[in-house]
Amino acid sequence: VARMARTVFTFCRICEARCGLAVTVENDRVVQIAPDKENPHSWRDFCAKARTAGRVVDHERRILAPLRRVGDRYVEASWDEAIGDIARRLRRVLDAHGPDAIGAYWGNPNGWSESNHLARDAFLDAIGTSQRYNSASVDNNAVLYVCNEMYGTARLFLIPDVDEAHCMLLVGANPAVSAFNWTCSVPGGWKRVLAAQANGADVIVVDPRRTETAAAADTHVAVRPGQDWAFLLGLLTVVLTEGLIDAADANDADGLAELVRLVSEVDLEHLAGVCDVPTDAIVDVARRFARAPTGFCFTATGVSHHRTGAVGEWLGHVLNVVTGRLDRTGGRYKQRSFVDTAPFQARLKRPPRRPSRVRGLPAINGTHSMAEMAGEILTPGPGQIRAMIIHAGNPANTGPAGAELDRALSQLDLLVAVDMVQRESHRHAHWLIPAPHWLERDDLLISFAASSDEPFVQYGPQAVPPPPGMREEWRFFIDLALAMRRPLFGHRGANTAIRATRALARITGVPALAFHPRWYTRLVVAAGRTLRWQDILDHPHGWVWSERRYGVLRAELAERGRRIQLAPPTLLARCRELLAQPAPAAPAEFPFLLINKRDKNLMNSWLSDVPGLHRKPGTDVEMNPSDADAIGVRDGDPVRVASPVASVEAPVAVTDVVAPGVVTIGHGWGSRVFDPTAEKPPMVAGVDRNRLVSNTDLDPVSQIPALSSTYVSVTRAGSRAPSLADTTDRESEGVV
Ligand code: SF4
Repeated sequence: VARMARTVFTFCRICEARCGLAVTVENDRVVQIAPDKENPHSWRDFCAKARTAGRVVDHERRILAPLRRVGDRYVEASWDEAIGDIARRLRRVLDAHGPDAIGAYWGNPNGWSESNHLARDAFLDAIGTSQRYNSASVDNNAVLYVCNEMYGTARLFLIPDVDEAHCMLLVGANPAVSAFNWTCSVPGGWKRVLAAQANGADVIVVDPRRTETAAAADTHVAVRPGQDWAFLLGLLTVVLTEGLIDAADANDADGLAELVRLVSEVDLEHLAGVCDVPTDAIVDVARRFARAPTGFCFTATGVSHHRTGAVGEWLGHVLNVVTGRLDRTGGRYKQRSFVDTAPFQARLKRPPRRPSRVRGLPAINGTHSMAEMAGEILTPGPGQIRAMIIHAGNPANTGPAGAELDRALSQLDLLVAVDMVQRESHRHAHWLIPAPHWLERDDLLISFAASSDEPFVQYGPQAVPPPPGMREEWRFFIDLALAMRRPLFGHRGANTAIRATRALARITGVPALAFHPRWYTRLVVAAGRTLRWQDILDHPHGWVWSERRYGVLRAELAERGRRIQLAPPTLLARCRELLAQPAPAAPAEFPFLLINKRDKNLMNSWLSDVPGLHRKPGTDVEMNPSDADAIGVRDGDPVRVASPVASVEAPVAVTDVVAPGVVTIGHGWGSRVFDPTAEKPPMVAGVDRNRLVSNTDLDPVSQIPALSSTYVSVTRAGSRAPSLADTTDRESEGVV
């Protein structure tokens, strides 16, 4: 029976912007997705990724039931069979080899469900493993590390005040494409920058590539890739030596004297040589930035994707503090939150995170670098990973040296992938566990309660029901811990309580009496004593619940009896180490520096397989005309790009947006989507450039691999059109 079309107001759960959506649903199917024009916060910022989200719901290769590997294909199984078998095999590994023999990796989409996040952590705490990895270790770790050192909390959203800034110093950021949806949300951020610029704001972009943002800037500083830190240290040197500081703010933090000592050791000419920016330009930018009435320095992945990333990120924050841009109008500021998770987190018995077994590296914000996963699986000894759960993630594509990780994953005793489709990292999985699309579930994202540029909250209701029999991921993790008889949340009583609620629900016939992680969300909202749950629900288009305020961060730090730390010893020492090094030079056999770029229609490695979303894969090799002449290629010719760890082939795009000696290939492409029935060949678009990156070449502080500073060679390839079959260690076919 055909049902009337209805409109569901919800929000997008692909990136930090969380744009308001109006989803038209007919017969429980998505027929159209449009921006919610009544969303008071975000309606301006709708993009093609959300417009095409219905195609992901209807993905032709979607996993709809638990699938067990039998030979080279998969067969359907019941949830009981899946939970029972996985629990038995995990238990066997745990009993024989201890908790660290079980590893877990989770990707970015997992961040958009509080329930899944909570239950997965509760399960891992039940196991007690330290072998936890996530996608933050390829982009976010630098900012997490720096915020923890400077402000005492890793997850801190420092929002750029684009409307009020007189000077915007954007370093390694491309908001014309990303719209500032990076560790915070500024809806329509780029349009607002352009509006401010039209009113006289000074926009300075520091980026080795002439990005869309750089092309619109008042000044583009084409810094040498990976040497943003040297440019920023040059700015700090000028600011401190010329007395261009905000004395009150600089002295309200600890460590100014250490910074003064540091810059006294700096030779500006040397830094200019390292970052390949003339001294005059460094001095000019420093003065413009520091003398502007308001402004901010904003650093993003272009800074963090290097072995210098943590120092670069730190210097950006330091510049903001000493020039009086932090927590001020027109600077970078923190917003208030409406939740309080502290009382509940304090009660959880989180197992301590051990340093990594093979390289001895510490965890950052509770997880290890994905660059370590392959070694932790392949290296024999106590604590070797023998079983792994990959949850909404694709580390063989997202991270470095994918071929080595692929080999490692093939050797596990048990690999379980929880996802909507079978991706590159899941090809050796023993079990494929289905997951609902975000349009199929309710969410209130408390982790992002303070990430918008104004106090905003929205409850996102389910737009369409999940396919019959589908379960949310949180249920899988809870069921698994119960079947393994391991204490969820690290508390013995938790399992008993959850079983009791389920029994009650069964006896009374009231499903809502069974435990749901949403209970936690409601509790932390209540604990926040700011908003009432019902009031949130009463604002279906979202709710700007208060006016924007400045000074929130300092007030919160004062409450905790803490001051900003300008000179954390690790970062200071690493900076001195970099200062002592000579200007970088390419090795003769790998004369080009490979950098990264952002694609508007990708979310990291996600969405490369959405039909009709992309005109073509974004993996052309951008190369300067002088370099193209030197190696004898013309626009569109196939080239072979090789690093010490792998090689790929792709067409060259001859362009002066990159300087001589620099080449660009976009990341997130080249991951296969398999047909679990093995009847059709894998779907694929583009090549995976991340496999050119070594998994041992990391920033020693943030542990982020050199995704944007890997030396490569580029040579003319054969005349036929390149395909994924040209990529080393590959065996793929079809194109999306
Ligand atoms: S992916 Fe696009 S629509 Fe979705 S939240 Fe991000 S900017 Fe908004």
